[in-house]
Amino acid sequence: MDRKSFFKALGSIALSTTALSFTRFRDEALHASPTPKMPVLFLGHGSPMNAIEENDFVTGFRNVAAGLERPNAILCISAHWETDGTRVTAMERPRTIHDFRGFPPALYQVQYPAPGSPALAEEIAGLSPMAQIRLDHAWGLDHGAWSVIRHLYPGADVPVLQLSLDRRQPASFHYALGKELAALRERGILIIGSGNMVHHLGLVAWDRLGDEEYGFDWALEARSAMNRYILEGRHDPLIDYRSQGRAFQLAIPTPEHFLPLLYILGLQQKGEEVHLFNDRAIGGSLTMTSVRIG
Ligand code: ZN
Repeated sequence: MDRKSFFKALGSIALSTTALSFTRFRDEALHASPTPKMPVLFLGHGSPMNAIEENDFVTGFRNVAAGLERPNAILCISAHWETDGTRVTAMERPRTIHDFRGFPPALYQVQYPAPGSPALAEEIAGLSPMAQIRLDHAWGLDHGAWSVIRHLYPGADVPVLQLSLDRRQPASFHYALGKELAALRERGILIIGSGNMVHHLGLVAWDRLGDEEYGFDWALEARSAMNRYILEGRHDPLIDYRSQGRAFQLAIPTPEHFLPLLYILGLQQKGEEVHLFNDRAIGGSLTMTSVRIG
């Protein structure tokens, strides 16, 4: 190598080192730059048909998204994914799961091709020594996730991950695990619980489902008590929902549609505002009440 090429080579090494450190610096700066803390949401998803219908609930979902900073990713805790142990979806391209029966073909044709994020999944798996979260490569996005998220981000351009409900664990575990996810809010990650606070399918008054608002006495009683506890920040009676009497027992015959709420409440920090929306009872035994915290 002659002197000229030597200096030329040295120059390009120096240049590429500079470029490399600049890239590193920029990445670190991006990481370090304070992202505003993301609010957290509980969304009452109701019928899968909400995925393709135009109604007030869908408008409520759109409005809440319009008031948020665009998230870097979404982590959804859906009522429709129960497992032994907690799992997080870790695939690049989660499939759209049509986990329901007897609906019109149009609903089965819906695809929500949001990407996943294997790197974020790994990070989430490391967040909770208590839950020992495992990576999942088989699930995807169930309708608890996509039927609502498609209204929030119709472009399917925000990565979406799901966290499963460990069916073996008590309510207090789910509330505590919610708390352990808190760091994600600082990283621009939107955490969504998707279920229904009052959800007794066996008692639905199918002939009244078309009514704008229709709730049995016990459903309205449970709704108003739940709303009051949420707005007053009294989480203990909600964690201890099994001891709250007949109205709660009828409202929560099985826990999976209620537990996603506990993750969201666990994420509430001191002084954060709580806002209820889509707060309506339908079909007698369901409520669509949704919550934004922060
Ligand atoms: Zn559901």
